[in-house]
Amino acid sequence: MKKEDCIFCKLSNGEIPTNALYEDDIVKVIFDLNPASKGHVLIIPKNHFDDIYSMDNATAAHVFQTAVKVSKAMKEALNCDGLNIVQNNGEAAGQTVFHFHMHIIPRYEGDTVNIKWIPGKAEAEEITELKEKIAQFM
Ligand code: 5GP
Ligand code: ZN
Repeated sequence: MKKEDCIFCKLSNGEIPTNALYEDDIVKVIFDLNPASKGHVLIIPKNHFDDIYSMDNATAAHVFQTAVKVSKAMKEALNCDGLNIVQNNGEAAGQTVFHFHMHIIPRYEGDTVNIKWIPGKAEAEEITELKEKIAQFM
């Protein structure tokens, strides 16, 4: 399940060599080329999924188990003050490489990483409406 001309297919399957932090049959964890902070890595499934919508449960579970493993190791090794997990889907959400990947971004007090939004407001009525709308597809 590889895609022609997909850079992350090539990196995760060894067609392009990379100094991976971790690898097993299902995922490869590589260092981001343009890291947001020291230790920023990407968890990449070896099979090609464009994004979260096409991913199967077993791979998703393994990706998150890997995120737990990597996060614990980061905390021990780098003594980071915090850590963000970011996973972008679609251009509107900032996805630039269209092979699913999960960012693990260690955080340090006073760093330059910017993952923020303006907090909004949601009325109870709107929440009920949203719940009914979304839950029918779950
Ligand atoms: P996205 O914006 O799609 O969530 O994240 C794509 C990430 O992949 C970016 O952080 C970018 O720096 C990283 N990236 C893009 N091309 C390469 C590459 O060839 N090698 C590595 N290691 N990272 C890459
Ligand atoms: Zn791919």
